[in-house]
Amino acid sequence: MNFTDLGLGEDLLKAIEEIGYTTPTPIQEKSIPIILMARDLIGLAQTGTGKTASFTLPMIEMLSSGRARSRMPRSLVLAPTRELAAQVGENFDKYGKYHKLSKALLVGGESMGDQIKILEKGVDVLIATPGRLLDLFDRGQILLSDIKVLVIDEADRMLDMGFIPDIEKIISLLPMTRQTLLFSATMPDEIKNLSEKFLSNPKTVSVAPPASPAKTVDHRMMEVSSKSKKTVLKDLIDREDVKNAFVFCNRKKDVDMLGRWLRDKGFSAASLHGDMIQSKRTETLQAFKDGEIVLLVCSDVAARGLDVSGVSHVFNFDVPFNADDYVHRIGRTGRAGLKGKAWSLITEDDEKFVAAIRKLVGEVPTEKAKDEPREEKKESAPRQKSSPSRNSGNTKSSGRPPSRHTREEDVGEDSFNDDNLPAFLRR
Ligand code: AMP
Repeated sequence: MNFTDLGLGEDLLKAIEEIGYTTPTPIQEKSIPIILMARDLIGLAQTGTGKTASFTLPMIEMLSSGRARSRMPRSLVLAPTRELAAQVGENFDKYGKYHKLSKALLVGGESMGDQIKILEKGVDVLIATPGRLLDLFDRGQILLSDIKVLVIDEADRMLDMGFIPDIEKIISLLPMTRQTLLFSATMPDEIKNLSEKFLSNPKTVSVAPPASPAKTVDHRMMEVSSKSKKTVLKDLIDREDVKNAFVFCNRKKDVDMLGRWLRDKGFSAASLHGDMIQSKRTETLQAFKDGEIVLLVCSDVAARGLDVSGVSHVFNFDVPFNADDYVHRIGRTGRAGLKGKAWSLITEDDEKFVAAIRKLVGEVPTEKAKDEPREEKKESAPRQKSSPSRNSGNTKSSGRPPSRHTREEDVGEDSFNDDNLPAFLRR
């Protein structure tokens, strides 16, 4: 199937062609015609399947053919984190290049005054995290009475983050007659209930069995003692051909600690977690996307759903407490048909969590680390030479300021074709 068969207009097809997408992904192929028929939809899809475009493209199409009442917002997209909301915003700009549509990105941690100024000019689309949207509504800054399409993205994550009451409140502020699209990687009971309550006769489309890791990720575990975790991680990074990687920790203080330690060891590493100020988070993420940082040490909330193309590796410095998070974490690599590798360091204390992961995803190949605690010698390995995994040592020492955003990071995934699609994407 081609994009031309989906019912999208010329301007969108032109933008898609310029980006370089040749064929729609399965979630796009299945969802777009349903959305264009104004049906409610439940989309069961992980990030990395092209789900953002599956709702953004038809949304732009519908907005371009309708008319706004005195520029009141007609679509609302709710996302669980600021980064995800920003990503939807970027998609909207990229696909809507030839449309004169406007958006407001309403996320916490950014100036409310600036967001209010944009709202005052009138926008077609609101892309928001629930808390900030409600704040602005309570201050009388938003009119929601003309919303015709509501998208709830990453609904299962919204649940994990405790946003369901906020979502219910937001829905109660919207017109009864509207189209509702709900996307989720998994379907826990609470999300099922939410969809039964607020969606009307929805069509369900699904592209991956819930909580299964993408087939393109080679994921493995390494048995290790708690005290040698850091050195084993370093050895793994040395041994693997790491282009760029997410390194996950369970606690924010460990995110900071490990980021510092890796930098000390000469790696190009930075930390990302929810307690950092927004400007620093945005700058760090951009530097990682631009390839100026090789290792992004992060927490789950900071990394969920981040669309960074062509990440070669994921390292779980800590095993996640929740088996679903394991799938989400390793899903940061092996995206859109590209191959990826994931390593998890497991200690005796993790037995319970590892068992839950194995129950969810099946057996995971496991090695035992040469686990003797070693003297950490400053000069233990040449830091700059052989490995492509690091640049001149410290990220900051590259001398280049993190460049502003370009869309180049999508180039790596433009080679999306049937041959390199994972099985679940080929249907
Ligand atoms: P998402 O699941 O929305 O996070 O998208 C994952 C990645 O797939 C993003 O980098 C998109 O730019 C890319 N993508 C989306 N649709 C297509 C397509 N039809 N062909 C190739 N890449 C795509």
